[in-house]
Amino acid sequence: MDLTALTIHELRRRLVRREVSVTEVVRRYLERIEALDPRVNSYVKVMADEALEEAARYDRGEKDLEGPPLAGVPLSVKDVLCTRGIRTSCGSKILENYLPPSDATVIEKLKASGAVLLGKTNMDEFAMGSSTESSAFGPTRNPWDLDRVPGGSSGGSAAAVAADLCAGSLGTDTGGSIRQPGSFCGVVGLKPTYGRVSRFGLVAFASSLDQIGPITKDVRDAALLLHVVAGYDRRDSTSVDLPVPDYPECIREPVDGLRLGIPREYFVEGMHPDVLSRVRQAIETCRELGGEVVEVSLPHTAYGVAAYYIIAPAEASSNLARYDGVKYGTRASDARELAAMYRETRSRGFGPEVKRRIMLGTYVLSAGYYDAYYRKASQVRTLIRQDFLDAFQTCDALLTPVVPTPAFRVGEKTGDPLQMYLSDVFTLPASLAGIPGISVPCGFTSEGLPVGLQILGPHFREDLVLRIARHFEEAAGFSRRKPDLCA
Ligand code: GLN
Repeated sequence: MDLTALTIHELRRRLVRREVSVTEVVRRYLERIEALDPRVNSYVKVMADEALEEAARYDRGEKDLEGPPLAGVPLSVKDVLCTRGIRTSCGSKILENYLPPSDATVIEKLKASGAVLLGKTNMDEFAMGSSTESSAFGPTRNPWDLDRVPGGSSGGSAAAVAADLCAGSLGTDTGGSIRQPGSFCGVVGLKPTYGRVSRFGLVAFASSLDQIGPITKDVRDAALLLHVVAGYDRRDSTSVDLPVPDYPECIREPVDGLRLGIPREYFVEGMHPDVLSRVRQAIETCRELGGEVVEVSLPHTAYGVAAYYIIAPAEASSNLARYDGVKYGTRASDARELAAMYRETRSRGFGPEVKRRIMLGTYVLSAGYYDAYYRKASQVRTLIRQDFLDAFQTCDALLTPVVPTPAFRVGEKTGDPLQMYLSDVFTLPASLAGIPGISVPCGFTSEGLPVGLQILGPHFREDLVLRIARHFEEAAGFSRRKPDLCA
């Protein structure tokens, strides 16, 4: 098997046994990126020299290859995570020259665990989107069909993992941006509970929703990466001071006897028939594994899209005020006076989707509209959260589709933002509620496009979500299939 197709845990075994050197592995990845990424466009920056230097340190015996859990493992990270001295663009022209003064907490943790950073992955501008088409650096393509989108906003990370252009990646999920690209690209994507992973050094989109999580080739790798990055951080006041379970260990426990809820609102008309049938089949597999399947109701599901697309833009409009050419952002230096400088900086620096969100956000927060929109949406958010808390009284976890359709075509939804927003219908509610969710591959459509199963759990029960996903994955076996591109 090609080295680049290995999971993190498989690669670690070979590295520790010295069957292969870190330099060899890094070189293989760099060659593959050079050969394939011009077609996929999953990276906005490849850190070849840095990665090779780091690899050499391992191979010269200067760094410990045995102890740290990710020693010698080449990973990528979404370009919304600050990397010291390395451009962090957030897929935006306004940050095309931004060099962060420090690393995000998760980057520090990856480095401390021995990971080798291969590069930064493409994304929708400021993580606003579901297709990676709003990137200022061109769209990323889906490795399973280059005419289709990889999903978004962490589309670069998901495509890079699917095409074996890295061993694993970190993405971010505000309303589905890890799970949805995971589903579209046939890889595993986990959004942790809000507060589980420090957001320090994550460039903010919607601060009450943003979470960082792993995108990997299998569930064991997701458990491993989450274990590395999770935990309290005094630099993020919303990170929660709870012990972090040993995820790679807990996922071994069996799943029989668990009550698995099937929310009826997630099986609606208009879904792609193959998505419906693959998810139904997956539910059957979980039943065969010993789970008890029960029907539940999450009655406020239908209001998730409307609530999210008020709350997220509201927070975004406030967070993005800092890109004014003075505090942050490439300044329009030809402007003659201050107001013109602000106007030109923001007009030239932001793309159309980001501008749309800023306008929506400032509108719903403005005097006279705040009560009708923002406050109302916040109330709906509480109802959605309560739906989940009620459901978890009668079941341990929920099984749902991730997206109503498989990956759509490049350009198919760019002219119609509402259609783009509606495709988030099954991922937004868990984000609004702050609960953890995973997307795990559960089959393919008749056209050969991947389909994901979403498993949602109660707050801080990533262990449970991962455990169910792991057993499902072993029984179903879809995570090992590779797109033709990689042949
Ligand atoms: N698609 C959603 C949006 O456009 C979610 C994005 C995300 O999770 N970052 O806002």
